[in-house]
Amino acid sequence: AAQKETRGFQTEAKQLLHLMIHSLYSNKEIFLRELVSNASDAADKLRFEALKNDALFENDSELKIRVSFDKDAKTVTISDNGIGMSRDEVIEHLGTIAKSGTAQFLENLSGDEQKDSHLIGQFGVGFYSAFIVAKQVEVFTRRAGAAASEGVHWSCDGEAEYVVETVEKESRGTEIVLHLKDDSADFADGWRLRSVIKKYSDHISIPVVMQKDPMPAPEGEEPQEPAEPEDEVVNTATALWTRSRSDVSEEEYKEFYKHISHDYSDPMKWSHNRVEGKLDYTSLLFLPSKAPFDLYNRDGNRGVKLYVQRTFIMDDAEQFLPLYLRFIKGVVDSNDLSLNVSREILQKDPNIDSMRAALTKRVLDMLEKLAKNDAETYQEFWNEFGQVLKEGPAEDYANREKIAKLLRFASTHTNEAKQDQSLESYIERMKEGQDTIYYVAAENFNTAKSSPHLEVFRKKGIEVLILSDRVDEWLMGHLMEFDGKKFQDVAKGSLDLGDMDTEEEKKAQEESEKEMASLLERSKECLKDSVEEVRITHRLTDSPACLVVGDHDMGAQMRRMLEQAGQ
Ligand code: ADP
Ligand code: MG
Repeated sequence: AAQKETRGFQTEAKQLLHLMIHSLYSNKEIFLRELVSNASDAADKLRFEALKNDALFENDSELKIRVSFDKDAKTVTISDNGIGMSRDEVIEHLGTIAKSGTAQFLENLSGDEQKDSHLIGQFGVGFYSAFIVAKQVEVFTRRAGAAASEGVHWSCDGEAEYVVETVEKESRGTEIVLHLKDDSADFADGWRLRSVIKKYSDHISIPVVMQKDPMPAPEGEEPQEPAEPEDEVVNTATALWTRSRSDVSEEEYKEFYKHISHDYSDPMKWSHNRVEGKLDYTSLLFLPSKAPFDLYNRDGNRGVKLYVQRTFIMDDAEQFLPLYLRFIKGVVDSNDLSLNVSREILQKDPNIDSMRAALTKRVLDMLEKLAKNDAETYQEFWNEFGQVLKEGPAEDYANREKIAKLLRFASTHTNEAKQDQSLESYIERMKEGQDTIYYVAAENFNTAKSSPHLEVFRKKGIEVLILSDRVDEWLMGHLMEFDGKKFQDVAKGSLDLGDMDTEEEKKAQEESEKEMASLLERSKECLKDSVEEVRITHRLTDSPACLVVGDHDMGAQMRRMLEQAGQ
């Protein structure tokens, strides 16, 4: 490769960079949180790689982050002694954006600053946020274990291109120099930087170090140059989850969440627990307030980070929660697992199964509590993540009753598309003698709501759940019953509402059946090649006829889904 080359950014990176340069942010200071967060990730990665190769520490195992500034030159510098980057890694990580959903995210931007900054909040722009305050950004980096001559200098002062060059770099890790824009020059200030670090990065588990401000000279004396500038640690610098709940403030939890999730919005709820006994571990699990762009991608990233005795081991530790809780973010820190644990080992370890069961229960309990104590917030949760939770009963048979309690449906009780009725509230409203939970399913709410199958239910005042999500029939196929009450598709099989008919109604029905007998025979004859059976029904009040499917046949919606999939 050429020693020095000029390269163009990938299209998506260019677009994001453009957004940053023409800043949408009212909140400029978050650039520091992003860069400190990356430095901390780099330290985690080094510690992890060093488990197998101690030499990577190069006799410098005290991992830390340093923030410094130069008022006159208007620069702020963030440096770390973490894993660093090779030339190829610099080009890959700082020249492109690998995140899934980037294109989709960019399409969603409206040009309206308020709305867009919210979207960016969800997406998280990380490194590029440096350009909110800097007109030029320089990165000096060397990967741990590489020779000093394999350092890399990356520099960018525009939207289109950057320059990479191989340089000498003695110390391992990454140094980022921000050349501040004039309107952001106030960040080159010790007090300002300290307060931003305190605010956003206090929970970072390694020290964030700054030079102490020189003491102001006493009144009337010449300022003295301090002999040796002293360092001080600005943050608390202990892994947040190891602290006891009562020592951690709400703000700290929120900032920690943003750091591990790379999400900018506050979490909705969290659950922090220490388990001792046969298994010894700490978990800190967060419920995000917004769904990520790739929520429906079942192969996408999962949110649990695994630590073993405070050492970072892996992201996306998928063994610790089921797929239908893939929106949960957090940390699990085990004191029992070996530092050499791998995904393969996790898959086979029966202790992991019990941890998974316990963590699943924690999340379901957290949701149950939220639903009980704060129905409004729970509704927000449901609107964001309900679709995924509906995968639960199929995936997690053991917890299906618990999950069913958390489900919310549209129903003829409200006749609104909003899914806000629980099964428990449905049961409270059940008619005398009703022992079945009825539902109607179609490909959209309006079709379902106006289904002719609902006529008799409306007439009798019996509530029916209105299902129109793709996963609904899948859900119903696995739910079967709730609180001892069976579910019944109103379009399936014969419908026996007999127990709820009055004597008069029964008599009228018998009479009409006699009158219709010959019509029934003729219909059967005419339709015998296209339908299995023709029946007289009392379920319709306005429509003359309707199609039903057999009790054990596939639902109409499921059939449509399979047809679409070419089956
Ligand atoms: P994210 O942190 O969400 O992955 P960023 O835009 O913040 O995204 O960073 C992009 C990538 O650049 C990181 O994933 C990492 O590989 C690399 N990177 C950024 N800062 C550093 C650093 N200080 N040390 C090592 N690698 C870094
Ligand atoms: Mg980052």
